[in-house]
This record gives sequence, structure tokens and C-alpha cells, in this order.
Amino acid sequence: MTAQLIDGKAIAAQIYEEIQAEVAALKEKHGITPGLATVLVGENPAAQSYVRSKQKTCTACGFHSVGEHMPVDASQEEVDAVVKRLNEDPSIHGILVQLPLPKHLDEEKILSAISLEKDVDGFHPLNIGRLSMKGRKPLFVPCTPAGSVELLVRSGVEIEGKEAVILGRSNIVGLPVSMLLLHRNATITICHSRTKDLAATCRQADILIAAVGRPEMVKADWVKPGAAVIDVGINRVWVEHPADKEWTCTATGETFIAHRKDESEKGGRRKMGTYCVTCDEAYQKGHEPADMQDCEVMSLFRKYKLVGDVDFDEVNEVAGYLTPVPGGVGPMTIAMLMWNTLAGAKLAAKL
Ligand code: NAP
Repeated sequence: MTAQLIDGKAIAAQIYEEIQAEVAALKEKHGITPGLATVLVGENPAAQSYVRSKQKTCTACGFHSVGEHMPVDASQEEVDAVVKRLNEDPSIHGILVQLPLPKHLDEEKILSAISLEKDVDGFHPLNIGRLSMKGRKPLFVPCTPAGSVELLVRSGVEIEGKEAVILGRSNIVGLPVSMLLLHRNATITICHSRTKDLAATCRQADILIAAVGRPEMVKADWVKPGAAVIDVGINRVWVEHPADKEWTCTATGETFIAHRKDESEKGGRRKMGTYCVTCDEAYQKGHEPADMQDCEVMSLFRKYKLVGDVDFDEVNEVAGYLTPVPGGVGPMTIAMLMWNTLAGAKLAAKL
């Protein structure tokens, strides 16, 4: 028997409907429009594309959205000043600083400067601290962990009293999702790179959350039959590798031997691609591959696929519930960001 698919897109669509209904009521009864500000420093194309999609979703939800785009050499003082201005702006209920920031900026200082009441990303140390303490409630919960748990809840997976194993202990996913499941009375085990027998530990899980960033690491024999498996991982793997072949870039007319970019590079830069120098420069300046369709070489850029940390085909035969990648946790992250922004607007209005 195959697992029941947890459809993140469909659940996110339900959440958007709920948000739109609440926004309409907020506007009508209280004259309030939730507002989200995004702060982007630099020209990182992936970060620009994330920010654009957040802004688009804001519009679809009926929110007011502000984009602060600062140059890559913006100083700490300049970024601090923007955050301060947004903190004081009553039309803004959520501030999202797009990470990663350029290395010369103090990320922790900037995130800590966001007003607690506008920390819709949920990464303010006080919000994280409250999340980690019994009997305390954070104002906002980080979006990917919140989305992962929401998928379980809305799919009718029982959490209380269950064994939950969380694969990964990052501040962004593993740790907060562990806290959320603990608060829902699961018994939690957190695994990481030093855990001795990962497969055996994971096999104990009624609920398995995979957030390691290792393509298809979780195999069928890691999973207890009937378990609910949430795959947070987003990994790009090559389907076809065109290296060592001569290509002509139709945008430039140049021929060159394709080579592969370092995939391990973290921090939002494009992690892979086969490109000619000109196209790559255009890409670094923020052009999307779609803008460069006349370039035969750039079309190769699409020849990768996204996979999760779970081997979907194998685990699908064993698990009771399973999220796909893409289309599982991914769509929930932005949905929860919108949810948090709406909560921020209600908080500001003391509703
Ligand atoms: P991260 O900061 O790199 O943390 C990875 C965690 O996995 C660490 O705790 C690490 O252990 C552990 N780990 C790595 N390799 C391991 C191995 N071979 N065996 C056991 N544990 C191992 O990653 P992250 O930011 O949490 O992201 C995890 C994945 O989720 C990535 O694929 C990321 O792209 C994805 N993600 C998705 C969304 C979404 O919206 N769907 C959002 C955020 C992240 P140590 O602590 O010992 O190093």
C-alpha cells in the first residue's frame, strides 16, 4: 500500500482562503490592511526571486507590501536605519530581512533589531527563547517549522503521545520543529551528523521530520510502516550533466566547454548551471533564465530536478503519510509567513 500524500499546495491554498477572508473582515470592520516589508541587501538573484514571490503572495492575500532593496555595499548603519524606520511604521506589521546578508553585515544584530511584534520570521532570540520554554508563547513561530506541523495537523495525524524523530538540528528548521512537536506532547528525538545509528533511530518514529539537506537520504528501511514522514529538504540534483561538451551560446555566439558550478556553495547564489560567461554575468545581475530564452545554453540551466531528503519512491511504499518535494513543505513556508503577518496586524490592533 502506498502512503497518503500530504498535498502542501492544497493545504496552503486553504490557508490563503482563510487569510483572505480574515483580511476582508479586518478591512471592513477595523479599516486595517496587514502590511509586510521585505528588506533585501544586494543583487543575489535567488534572494530577489524569493522576495518577488513573497510580494506577489502579499498582493494575492490583500496585504500592503513594501520592498526595501539596498545595494550590496549598504553599511550596517544604513540597514539598521531601514529596520528602525520599518519598526516605527504603523502600516507595517511584519518585517522580513531576506537572508543571507552580505558578510560585512552583522546578521544577528539586524535580526535582533526587528521589533518583537513585527518578527514574522520568528527568529528574534526572544521569540525563539519563548518557543523553547514550557508555558511561554512566542508571538511568532518560524514559518517552515510551523508549516511542517500544520501539514500534520490538517492531515489528521495524531501527535500527542507519539514518537517523533527530527533529522537535523538547525536553528531554522530542526530545533524549532522539535519544540513545536514537544509542545504538542510528542516524545522527541533529535538526530544530527554525530548520531550513531540514524536508520535505527528513525525507524522508531511515528512521525519523522527530515531536515538535513542530503538528497534522498532517508530510505524505506529507515521508516516504520505507517509512519507520517514530512520531508523538509529541498535539494537540486542534476538529471543530465552536460559537462565536457562543446556548446554554442546563441546569445553571444561564443563556443565553450560547459562546466559545472560548485553545487556546495551556500548562501543563495545559484548553486549550479551550465553557462557562458555573458549569460552568467546577466544572471548575476538578476536576470531570470526566462529573460534569456534566446540563449541555447541557458536552457540547460533547467536540467536539474528538486528532490527532498527522503527517497520518495521507496518511502512511499512504507509510510502512512508522506509529503512530496516539491509541493509539500515548500508552499507552506510562504503561507505561514502570510499567516504570521496577519497575526502581526491583529496584534498591533489588540484584536
Ligand atoms: P542545515 O542548517 O544545513 O542543517 C542540517 C542539519 O542536518 C544539521 O543539524 C546537520 O547536523 C544535519 N546533518 C547534515 N548531514 C547529516 C548527515 N549525513 N547525517 C545526519 N545529520 C546530518 O540545513 P537546514 O537549513 O535545516 O535545511 C535542511 C533542509 O531543509 C535543506 O534541504 C533546506 O534546503 C531545506 N529547507 C526547506 C525549507 C522549505 O521551505 N521547505 C526551508 C528551510 C530549509 P549537525 O548539526 O551535526 O551539523
